[in-house]
Amino acid sequence: MADDPFENMLAQMDRAKEYADVDDGVFERLKHPERTLKVTLPVELDSGEVKVFEGYRCQFDSARGPFKGGVRYHPTVSQREVEALAGWMTWKTALVDLPYGGAKGGIICEPKELTQNDLESLTRRYTEGIRRMIGPETDVPAPDMNTNPQTMAWIMDTFSMYEGHSVPQVVTGKPLELGGTPGRVEATGRGVSIVTERLFDYLDRDLSDATVAIQGFGNVGSNAAELLEEAGARIVATSDVSGAAYDPDGLDVGALTEHVNAGGLVEEYAAGNLRSTSEEREAVDGGVRWDDPELIGNDELLTLDVDVLIPAAVEGVITAENVGDVRASVIVEAANGPTTVAADEVLTERDVQVVPDILANAGGVIVSYLEWVQNAQEFSWPLETVNAELERRIGTAFDQTIEQYDEKDLPDLRTAAYTLALERTASAHEYRGLFP
Ligand code: NAD
Repeated sequence: MADDPFENMLAQMDRAKEYADVDDGVFERLKHPERTLKVTLPVELDSGEVKVFEGYRCQFDSARGPFKGGVRYHPTVSQREVEALAGWMTWKTALVDLPYGGAKGGIICEPKELTQNDLESLTRRYTEGIRRMIGPETDVPAPDMNTNPQTMAWIMDTFSMYEGHSVPQVVTGKPLELGGTPGRVEATGRGVSIVTERLFDYLDRDLSDATVAIQGFGNVGSNAAELLEEAGARIVATSDVSGAAYDPDGLDVGALTEHVNAGGLVEEYAAGNLRSTSEEREAVDGGVRWDDPELIGNDELLTLDVDVLIPAAVEGVITAENVGDVRASVIVEAANGPTTVAADEVLTERDVQVVPDILANAGGVIVSYLEWVQNAQEFSWPLETVNAELERRIGTAFDQTIEQYDEKDLPDLRTAAYTLALERTASAHEYRGLFP
């Protein structure tokens, strides 16, 4: 069960149901996605080969508003994974009180083996495949693993070509030039940093004394690292698929970011092979990094003796097998579904505070919503307005989760977040009634 993300999501719902005020019939309804489309995607690659890919779009629940959720390109994408991720989007949008339902899409592929042209062809073919499902008022895709503003631009362009006019609002996470919002790229990492700071305040602990390990140094992990470092925390380890860099005195997040942005791997960084040193950096630090990391494995990173562990890569990494070795007292789930239910039970027993994914990584969808609103208004807001609204919204969701946790004396923060999300979604279903 632990290996199946959809079963994991259902088990999380069951755990919360015990404490949630939700009708049994409605709860049963909430366990099933509304629909999932599977598309076959033949693409002629730059190499001349025609390769057939498989993609999905799952629309999980729309009781509270249009479907919303990212698109992921990864070899481990499957229908079950996409459906689990679409379910998590449903609970996330409800918890942070956005007028959206939940969806998710994905293509089974290894982006590292594809050229930029290949990725464009694949994205356009996928968009054609799902275009009857998506739209500004029906279902709005966004970036997820291995997709980015460029991917969103291709989706927007392909959709617009069929519509005969520009429809920027069909996706969020777009480039600024196409109606994207300032603050979207770093929004998820910013949200992770905000909830970590709020949790430390709640626990009466000082973040400036804290050590942090982050699995995954992609969009979310790198932005969270930078902002937590700014907040005074010490980032002692981070990783990508190649391995993890660990320095108990703290990593030089700026140097590592430059290296990764220039196409470098964490493994090369740990070995001292830096990809680039910008002129700007030369001027500040003489181009010299101030850390001296060793290379460790991704599994070892999860069990380091740190205050905060932030899984920011893939799901199912904290399991019954390794949870006994996890030493962090706080886990902030930047990735979706990183903790299995079996591991969760052990963490609850051990009083490890886990900020659940549907709260911890909600910054991305909050700012996606702000982008969508600006597009609808045909108006743009400055970065300060976007960041202030992100902080207000994720802060409110955090406070409501804590209030629920304390007042109902719930076993953990995930149960608190899920009871709120399930009650809100169930209430929308009850008001709307059962069609026909
Ligand atoms: P990304 O592709 O930018 O980065 C992913 C990182 O994880 C990379 O460093 C990659 O090398 C690493 N990685 C991949 N597989 C790994 C493995 N098996 N072990 C260790 N490291 C591995 O993706 P991202 O956008 O940063 O997303 C990371 C997580 O955050 C995902 O779970 C995603 O669903 C979630 N998330 C992302 C957003 C967003 O706005 N991008 C929003 C909410 C949640």
